[in-house]
Amino acid sequence: PLVALESFLRDVDGSNYSQLKQLTGRTYSLTRQMSPDPASVSIRFVRIQPDPFAPGSQVCVSVPAPFAAHALLHSAHSTPPAVTAAALDNPLTPEDVACRRVAAEDFILRCVKGGFAAGRNISGAVQTIHQSQHVIARSTVQLLDASGADDSDGTSDGWVHVYFRVKLPGHGRRIDGRRIQQILFSEVLPVFQENVLRCDHRALWAHVTCVHDQEWLRAQLRKWGFAAFIADGAILPRAAGNSDKPLSGPSVVAFSSPDTLRHTFQLPYSGRSISGACLPHGLTLIAGGGFHGKSTLLRALELGVYNHVPDDGRTFVVVDPTAVKIRAEDRRAVHGTDISPFITNLPYRDNTSAFVTADASGSTSQAANIMEALELGSTTLLLDEDTSATNFMYRDPLMEQLVPRTQEPITCFVHRVRDLMYHHNISVIMVVGGSGQYFPMADVVLLLNAYKVTDATARAKAIAAQSVGGGGVGLVESTAPPETSAFCLPPRRSFVYADTFGRLGWQSQQQQHHHHGYGGSGRGIKISGSGIDHIRMADEDINVTLLEQLVEEGQLNAIAQCLAMLYDSGSATAAQWQREEAPRSKYPPSLLNALSVDVAAAAGAPASNLSDFSRLVYNCEGRLRQARLELQTASCYLPAGFTALPRVFEIGAALNRLRTLVTSC
Ligand code: ADP
Ligand code: MG
Repeated sequence: PLVALESFLRDVDGSNYSQLKQLTGRTYSLTRQMSPDPASVSIRFVRIQPDPFAPGSQVCVSVPAPFAAHALLHSAHSTPPAVTAAALDNPLTPEDVACRRVAAEDFILRCVKGGFAAGRNISGAVQTIHQSQHVIARSTVQLLDASGADDSDGTSDGWVHVYFRVKLPGHGRRIDGRRIQQILFSEVLPVFQENVLRCDHRALWAHVTCVHDQEWLRAQLRKWGFAAFIADGAILPRAAGNSDKPLSGPSVVAFSSPDTLRHTFQLPYSGRSISGACLPHGLTLIAGGGFHGKSTLLRALELGVYNHVPDDGRTFVVVDPTAVKIRAEDRRAVHGTDISPFITNLPYRDNTSAFVTADASGSTSQAANIMEALELGSTTLLLDEDTSATNFMYRDPLMEQLVPRTQEPITCFVHRVRDLMYHHNISVIMVVGGSGQYFPMADVVLLLNAYKVTDATARAKAIAAQSVGGGGVGLVESTAPPETSAFCLPPRRSFVYADTFGRLGWQSQQQQHHHHGYGGSGRGIKISGSGIDHIRMADEDINVTLLEQLVEEGQLNAIAQCLAMLYDSGSATAAQWQREEAPRSKYPPSLLNALSVDVAAAAGAPASNLSDFSRLVYNCEGRLRQARLELQTASCYLPAGFTALPRVFEIGAALNRLRTLVTSC
């Protein structure tokens, strides 16, 4: 029989803090009512902090779903069912259900966070995961629906579980029962009663429908031969450099597609029709004067791999889900990446087909970033001249006279982009304000003028043609694709476990002798995400500051978990994951996996057409999803509820930036 939480807290008030440990694993009702009550709020103490100064205790607060969860997840209605237990006319696929579940969980988390933000966390004791403008699978909220077989009243057919941390206060080292009670009953409880149990059903259905439509639209792109779509009316600029909220006010210019690129789609779940600019597969240039909105447009496309909340402004700005932002990243380490299509004959180095450096230059880092994205299966590259190495992007004829091509190790991107498009089906979307050298091979040239977009393709082509006719100053000789490709994809590149991890400190050396599996003996090293920019791995710091498509701390936590799993599983397992296809998991939808299979199939290659290194990364990602984003292994300690799903590209990019990485080919 459960002792009521209040009487427990009264009993232990003032006693030694260790007494609180008794709460571990126990569940209490916060509402003091009998359990079948539809409005009951309960709390489970997952783990109690050792002392009042330690990081907060882990809890899980649960309520019966206050809405028709089964109908929400399994049917495509865009509004709450008017009649209870509405018949599920069109049962959805498991991928659709998973997408709707992620959206619903995202909505519930916003309700919880909104409640705590609105003056309900006076003590500051409650800590929840950081949540961006994007709708990403996270481990924080679990919406479980009963299978829907016999929901008699249709109002509650599921459960909502929310994981977070609460700092349970003390007087010195003694339990402060009164304040603990205050926090749990006057801060936590009302948030669940008012913000979760009374959440706005229409807004919930609209949120889920909007996310589902965005997911659908992104999946359409490839079928129609598009790399990206930007909805008419989208608000792309952000409120400030340090804010991801939309800019508001009279000076905002909403996106409007040039007529030549406009297409209209009928969104299946809301029934709305939506128009906007379709950027075709191939090369799209974004040109225009400085401060006219070029980078803002590209940034919206970079984040178009994610779904956004309905009022974000970038909703229905979608891009190929495998799109990777490419930039120069001098000083990064590179191990074993084949950058030879771009760079050969470096002074005093014999080989760039397995390039190794602890300190890359602007151009070599950019080349490595491209090759690693392609290795992991990206089919769209996004580049901004603001963050590119100039000598990597183009060279003008005057410089070619001074430095002949035979002395220049770099083959500019402008000379390779055709090859990538024709031989490897890669799309490129690129901001260029400083050079017209890409005009001849562009499929579309967008021109931005005071934030308004026009289609300048014809003019750019005419200018390029004239320039060739009138002396051919500075243009690429031929716009025809090369007969053979300079790129060898996928590369032969394998991860070498022992050499990579052997340098992480004495513990790991010991570990090689006493090789162990999961749940180890505490001999693991420490691996953790730190903010949005760094992942710590023993004494190594993986700098992911310039991975611009990482958007939440929870993603770094999840990457840390992946790396810890890789480390803790040992070298035999790592070797196996380089041979095996990644496990398939329906949680959450892995558009990415589905797509890369499509891509490989379309190219007539087996689905396993990845490098060993990439297969390893896909295995990490697949296992992360299989574990519902809670890959708890010895080397990475994380409280429950603090992970968000990263893409394979960012997991791979983090591993590629580990300075002790060793690969072989
Ligand atoms: P560029 O890359 O062309 O130099 P940016 O994209 O950096 O220009 O944009 C310059 C400024 O204009 C930024 O402060 C940005 O917030 C603002 N801006 C961009 N697009 C819009 C828009 N559609 N409406 C209003 N302001 C915008
Ligand atoms: Mg710019």
